[in-house]
Amino acid sequence: MPERLGPPLETPLFERVALIGLGLIGSSIARAARHLNLARTLVAIDQDEAVIGRVKELKLTDEATTDFAAGAEGADLIILCVPVGACGAVAEAIKGSLKPGCIVSDVGSVKGSVIAQVQPHLPPGVSFVPAHPVAGTEYSGPDAGFSTLFFNRWCILTPPEGTEDAAIDRVRDFWSAMGSNVEVMTAQHHDLVLAITSHVPHLIAYNIVGTAADLETVTQSEVIKFSAGGFRDFTRIAASDPTMWRDVFLHNKEAVLEMLGRLNEDIALLARAIRWGEGDKLFELFTRTRAIRRGIISEGQETPEPDFGRRRDGQ
Ligand code: NAP
Repeated sequence: MPERLGPPLETPLFERVALIGLGLIGSSIARAARHLNLARTLVAIDQDEAVIGRVKELKLTDEATTDFAAGAEGADLIILCVPVGACGAVAEAIKGSLKPGCIVSDVGSVKGSVIAQVQPHLPPGVSFVPAHPVAGTEYSGPDAGFSTLFFNRWCILTPPEGTEDAAIDRVRDFWSAMGSNVEVMTAQHHDLVLAITSHVPHLIAYNIVGTAADLETVTQSEVIKFSAGGFRDFTRIAASDPTMWRDVFLHNKEAVLEMLGRLNEDIALLARAIRWGEGDKLFELFTRTRAIRRGIISEGQETPEPDFGRRRDGQ
């Protein structure tokens, strides 16, 4: 619903914005920035000729190229929208094109690793303001994006120490204009928080769907037929982009392993409670978790509709 984004700005926030990687996130930024007039000139950069062709067909940007160095030339804001593991190589490819005063940012789901990969390539006079929009879907590519993806979602900025306030403010304004609520924290804290709120849940989903697929005593058709019992919601998450998520786990190794350790301990306690018939322990936990879901709904981060608003007759 683009009308929720509000009217276009009279004066663009940036003269020239280059988006590198026109997948779900990059193309969503392109659509929102275009709609809101956030850049006088919007440039799409992608390694794949076919994607650039599609970006042109969809008229997502003013310019579109597979030449990273040429596309980044003269930009005031460059946003890396590629998998976390590709950020270092992309930064290296554009480093000779960065004009003094330019801001480099990204959208990666892991921040510490991206800072370690990108920062060494940035010349003095270029600011780095890493960002993570906490918004997404299980779809990929330039057709998957939509302009309201970031509306009423959090965007976390993790500027390294010493980043100029003015650069942070400009990136904050960019995300606020797209409807995001912006918060600033350290990369280390971000990676720990997201390990438990996003990365481990994805790992659990990948795992449970994989386990169900491997079961020999339950047929594939039964798994699909009776999936509405809860399994189906895991399959949505487990359909997320394999490249993106492989990189997330490889680049947030420590925090994910720390949270997995905690999770394993808690699962062992649950197994024990079930084995010994400790219903009060189960009841107490399930009551607390129900309250957490209600908190997420009351903050507008989820629909209150039963079954995520699926049509009751469409199951
Ligand atoms: P996507 O739809 O798969 O798009 C990824 C883009 O990166 C594509 O344009 C792809 O190019 C490009 N790319 C892949 N490998 C590359 C490489 N080695 N060098 C240069 N470009 C490369 O993925 P996405 O969901 O937009 O994710 C992009 C970033 O956003 C990731 O860092 C992810 O962690 C972050 N993020 C994702 C979500 C989410 O839910 N999806 C949410 C928040 C943040 P091709 O055209 O060749 O495919």
